Amino acid sequence: MPGEFEFLDWVRKQQRPSQFVPIPAGDDMAVVNWPPGELLLVGVDQVLDGVHFDSALHDPRDIGRKVMNRNLSDCAAMACLPAADVATVALKRGSPLSYSKELYLGLRDAADVYDCPIIGGDTAAWDDRLLVTVTILGRTAGLRPILRKGAQPGNGIYVTGPLGGSILGRHMTFTPRVNEGRKLAESGVVTAMIDISDALSRDLRHLCQQGGVGAIIHAATVPIHADAIQLSKQTHWDPLDHALHDGEDHELLFTTLRTPPLGIQIGTITQDPAVLLQVNGQTLPLAPKGWEHRL
Ligand SMILES: [Mg+2]
Repeated sequence: MPGEFEFLDWVRKQQRPSQFVPIPAGDDMAVVNWPPGELLLVGVDQVLDGVHFDSALHDPRDIGRKVMNRNLSDCAAMACLPAADVATVALKRGSPLSYSKELYLGLRDAADVYDCPIIGGDTAAWDDRLLVTVTILGRTAGLRPILRKGAQPGNGIYVTGPLGGSILGRHMTFTPRVNEGRKLAESGVVTAMIDISDALSRDLRHLCQQGGVGAIIHAATVPIHADAIQLSKQTHWDPLDHALHDGEDHELLFTTLRTPPLGIQIGTITQDPAVLLQVNGQTLPLAPKGWEHRL
């Protein structure tokens, strides 16, 4: 990639000091100082131009931020603390140096919120569209990871915030619920957790399948985002359907033994494995729709 050395030199100068990085970037691999007795959680997530964002519409700073926030949201779902990450970027050939810098700054802006330094990565250019990947390292820091598996009949089902209509813009700008994930794990009442990346209806299905349980959702209690109402004017869907089936809200979906310190209850876990929706006095199957992008 032309300007690669200049870019890498610039990136090195951007690096923040961190307790996890005993040796600054510049070698063939990054070196990480891991706190003794802590588990290391590893996640990876990639975003593709035309699927997760549109480089004709979205600026590189926002694209960078989104990739990092998706990874941070997975940390939130496991109740771990983001510690460090590495990133790769496949640029469209001919992209100016300023574009790479903006992408990097977007990644870093998001990671800085949680003191999660970018400790290494790779960059190259090709004839295809932009592709960005982040691999994140999370640490348990005194709390056991919360898994998708673990929901028990009688548990309450909760979400951390209103859902639906993220395609109107929130899918680029959402806040990962890292602090909420930690608080929930600290409370000791959470039995299972996932972040809503695909859609409530799909991600709830994952929780239920992994726990060998079912669920009943009370439609009237599902918090509907103002964006879902806005979007329904264009799609003529019910705003509730956007809340149930839209993707990329990145709120946490979790189940609890007792009332948790935060969240909105939307239903209850059942022994019967069916996933049901109670709406207008009727009980219907809640089909796992969702996550098709309409960029
Ligand atoms: Mg996830």
